[in-house]
Amino acid sequence: MKQNGKKNIAIMGSTGSIGVQTLEIARANPERLQIEALSALSNADLLIRQALEFRPNCVVIAEQSKYGYVKDALQKHDIKVYTGADSLCQVVQMDTIDMVLGAIVGIAGLKSTVAAIKAGKSVALANKETLVVAGAYVTQLAREKGVNIYPVDSEHSAIFQCLAGEYGNKIEKVILTASGGPFREKQRELLANVTKEDALQHPNWNMGAKITIDSATMMNKGLEIIEAGWLFGLKSEQIDVIIHPQSVIHSLVCFEDGSVKAQLGLPDMHIPIQYALFYPERILSSYPRFNFRSFPNLTFQPPDSVKFPALNLAREAMKAGGVMPCVMNAANEAAVGAFLDNKIGFLDITDLVEKCMQRAFNIAKPTLEDLINCDREIRIIAAELCRKKI
Ligand code: NAD
Ligand code: MG
Repeated sequence: MKQNGKKNIAIMGSTGSIGVQTLEIARANPERLQIEALSALSNADLLIRQALEFRPNCVVIAEQSKYGYVKDALQKHDIKVYTGADSLCQVVQMDTIDMVLGAIVGIAGLKSTVAAIKAGKSVALANKETLVVAGAYVTQLAREKGVNIYPVDSEHSAIFQCLAGEYGNKIEKVILTASGGPFREKQRELLANVTKEDALQHPNWNMGAKITIDSATMMNKGLEIIEAGWLFGLKSEQIDVIIHPQSVIHSLVCFEDGSVKAQLGLPDMHIPIQYALFYPERILSSYPRFNFRSFPNLTFQPPDSVKFPALNLAREAMKAGGVMPCVMNAANEAAVGAFLDNKIGFLDITDLVEKCMQRAFNIAKPTLEDLINCDREIRIIAAELCRKKI
């Protein structure tokens, strides 16, 4: 906390679903949060609007072709403008920043998160792919630097909230809840022909395109199993998944005495984002409240791992360790991109992930460079498989 009493934050991915909601929290709490840096891939107009409203010290537009446009709009307002992935890594190290919110989607968020941890900044992490790909490296680095990583993902925030006051009490297991996505009730045969428009209709959450497709394939829950493993030091067997279509219970923790704690609320990402930003404090908010009368039936069912093979692929990747979670993630990012470009079908997404995992050679203790190389190589294989229609 700096002298002005405000927490100074940098938002990586400020134009996305999490980034925009974080800025809504900043707008509602101007006395508590100061935005020091904003960044986006290519949505220059929104980035400019955000910068003019929140007056950060600087912004980064990753896409170089948009640099001139953003610079022209902001330099006269004394807001510095940078471009390129390396600038993002430099910006997060600025002295004035207390906390970095990682809200970039995919492995693209890895390097800036690593740079923030190396600079000793607290990290509020929405970008789950960073932990999936490089969980061993990132958590070890955070321990060495004495940096806390606060989960933003709603399930992991729920677990984190259930663990408050439980220091030293062992977790027997955690139960991650999943909505089941838009195809929960659909038979597997019918999934072959679903369109991207069908898959982008999430029943409970309004999120970016990649995570919405991940929710439809249930790869999102697969990624979250691995994310939970790194955040809370758990083995795959200690992480259960349950389908809970109402998305009211955000996850549960079972302790060794048999007690189970759950965290509940409406499906609203403002709450976990705010908890990560202000932990351990719960600050007043006016978001709509949960009411049992609106949810007389909270229901639960086991996930169907035949219909949604992503869950088992993620467990396999987690058990294999090494580069395998990176392989899975790279193949999935490539496959989701190809599906969104109408190049492959819905069921091809997990088929492609499985094929890439079968082809890959594992490396037991990869360096960060090994992981980045592995990501690149798997994307080449995945693109080739997409061209051949798998
Ligand atoms: P989004 O697609 O809406 O936003 C992504 C942001 O990252 C944008 O600002 C974009 O400009 C930026 N970005 C994308 N690629 C980039 C690159 N190569 N370099 C620099 N910036 C880049 O995504 P989202 O839904 O906000 O999700 C962000 C992350 O949070 C994901 O990892 C997702 O899994 C996780 N998450 C999201 C939600 C949610 O409700 N949206 C919930 C839990 C976790
Ligand atoms: Mg989640």
